[in-house]
Amino acid sequence: KVEKLRKLKDLPAVTPDGKKVMLVANIGTPKDVKSALANGAEGVGLFRTEFLYMDRTTLPTEEEQFEAYKEVAEKMEGRPVTIRTLDIGGDKELPYLNMQKEMNPFLGYRAIRLCLDRKDIFKTQLRALLRASAYGNIHIMYPMISSITDVRRANAVLNEVKAELDKEGIKYDKNVKVGIMVEIPSAAITADILAKEVDFFSIGTNDLCQYTLAVDRMDEHVKDYYQPFNPAILRLIKLVIDAAHKEGKFAAMCGEMAGDPLATVILLGLGLDEFSMSSTSIPTIKDIIRNTEYEKAKEIVEKVLNMAEAEEIQKMMEDIIKNID
Ligand code: PEP
Ligand code: MG
Repeated sequence: KVEKLRKLKDLPAVTPDGKKVMLVANIGTPKDVKSALANGAEGVGLFRTEFLYMDRTTLPTEEEQFEAYKEVAEKMEGRPVTIRTLDIGGDKELPYLNMQKEMNPFLGYRAIRLCLDRKDIFKTQLRALLRASAYGNIHIMYPMISSITDVRRANAVLNEVKAELDKEGIKYDKNVKVGIMVEIPSAAITADILAKEVDFFSIGTNDLCQYTLAVDRMDEHVKDYYQPFNPAILRLIKLVIDAAHKEGKFAAMCGEMAGDPLATVILLGLGLDEFSMSSTSIPTIKDIIRNTEYEKAKEIVEKVLNMAEAEEIQKMMEDIIKNID
C-alpha cells in the first residue's frame, strides 16, 4: 500500500472521468517544503506564518519575514504558495504584545482584527510578502474575515504598502492574488458578497465547525459536538463553493476536513477546486480522487445533502471509502 501511494507522487489528482483538482500542502515553516514536494504537493495552500512571531521576545523584522517567504516561494519553483497573514490570538498568545486577558479569546482580539488595529505589525508583514512575491507565485490570504468591511480595510492597507513600494522602486508581483479564509459563519453566509472582491476562498473548517456548532475545537468534553459532517457545515461549504464559482473564483479548503478521507468524495462532488492538507495525507487523498468518478461523487452529494444527521452521513462515507482500495 505504501509503495502504491508512493508511485502516485507524480500523477495528477484527476478522476477517471477527467475532473482535475489541486492537492496542496499546509506548512508551518520553510522546512516543511521538503515533505510537501516529496508527497507530490502541487503548491502550498496554507503557509501559517505564526512561527515567525512565536517563541521570541520581539516582533520579527521585515527582513526576517521576507527571507522566510522568499525561501518558500523559490523552493516551490513557481507553484502557487498561499501565505496567510498573522493569525495570532485565540489560543496563540504573544507575551511581548501585552494583550489583554479576554473572557472569550476565540471571539476576541485576534488575527485580522489585531492586524487592522496594529497597522505597524500588518504593514511590515505585507511589505515582506509583497517583496517576496517577486520571487515566485505568492498568494496573500487574510484569516478570520467576518465581513466585506474587513476585506476592504485590509486591502486599503495592502494598497498603501504597494504605493510605498512603488515610490521606493521596489519590485513585487503587481497581480498578486488576494484571498480570504472562510472560517466564520458570517463570512460563509455572505460568500456571494465577498466573492466579488477577493480572488479566492479557502474554507477553514477547524474554526468554521467551532463557530457554527458553538463547540470549542480543543475541548475534549464536547468533542462529540464537533461534527464536520453536520448538515449545517456541509450546507455552508456548498454555499461558499457555489458563490466562488458564480464569480469565476476558485474555492479551496485548508481545514482538517480537506485531508479527511471520509470527506473527499463529498468535497469533490461539491466542486471544491483545491484541497490543502498536511503533506503526508496527500497520497491517500489523491488515491481516492483517482478512483472516484466525478459524476458519481455528485450523485453521492445529492444524497448527503438530504440526510439529517452527521453520524448517518459519516457511516455512509465509511462504506463508500471501504470499496476504494
Ligand atoms: C481553520 O480554521 O480551519 C484553519 C485552517 O486555520 P487554523 O487551524 O490555523 O485556525
Ligand atoms: Mg482558523
